[in-house]
Amino acid sequence: MLPPAELINPSVRRGPFRAVLFDFDGTLSLIREGWPRVMVGMMLERLRGASLLREPEAEEWITIDRLVMAQNGAPTIRQMEVFVDEVRRRGGTPADSWEYLREYIDRLMRDVRGRWADLETGVAKAADWVVPNAHAILTNIRDKGVPLFVASGTEYDHVACEAKLLGVEAFFPTGINAPKDNDPAFGKGKVIARLLAELGIRGEELLGFGDGVVETGEVKRVGGVAVGVASSEPGSGWGVVQQEKRARLIAAGADLIVPDYSRQDELIRWLWG
Ligand SMILES: [Mg+2]
Repeated sequence: MLPPAELINPSVRRGPFRAVLFDFDGTLSLIREGWPRVMVGMMLERLRGASLLREPEAEEWITIDRLVMAQNGAPTIRQMEVFVDEVRRRGGTPADSWEYLREYIDRLMRDVRGRWADLETGVAKAADWVVPNAHAILTNIRDKGVPLFVASGTEYDHVACEAKLLGVEAFFPTGINAPKDNDPAFGKGKVIARLLAELGIRGEELLGFGDGVVETGEVKRVGGVAVGVASSEPGSGWGVVQQEKRARLIAAGADLIVPDYSRQDELIRWLWG
């Protein structure tokens, strides 16, 4: 039986799994859709302002985007620290990483607050701002009696608020794992180590879903199975694998690639062998 997903690792272990870990942004929620554009845009503006651009802007965009996406899944402050290093590498004098973080969050929240308001007032439905069929896959796994966990590099209060607005909070009874006050010491590897210890299970019994390289790498590091969610953005066509994400997720060790959860029922059956 062929998997209802792109199979990257033909010898991938097929369940049963005893815990399932989801990343949040880009894996369940699309509320922060467009964040790389905002982050890279801010960084390019800073470089331009300090006359630190070396190549045509289109090329610099690719360079900075690569730096940012290599940390996708880490606490957001980590991406700012990498930028601080980059400014220094170019011979500039960087601002404090927390200053960059504040500026980025201010810019991003201009878009995000409108989406919160739409969800709060019912102008938008939760289904409009999640990866297609996200609620269905969570329900499916919960109904199998397998515990679900969520871990995000985004600031805790924001993830908690958005999980509630999207109606996914109740799927994670042990709570949201995310950095409080953008704590740089937060790490998905630590979350995984803790949940394996608490449940008394082996790494290979862990199934992870993520659109970032960090969670994918951490799930693979303990011997788990990683499904890479190469999710596209609203408007760019559902069911289409985002090629750059796909390439990064494969490099990080993803066993399978899906564009979203439209075939979640078959996927879960396949994964459980
Ligand atoms: Mg993500």
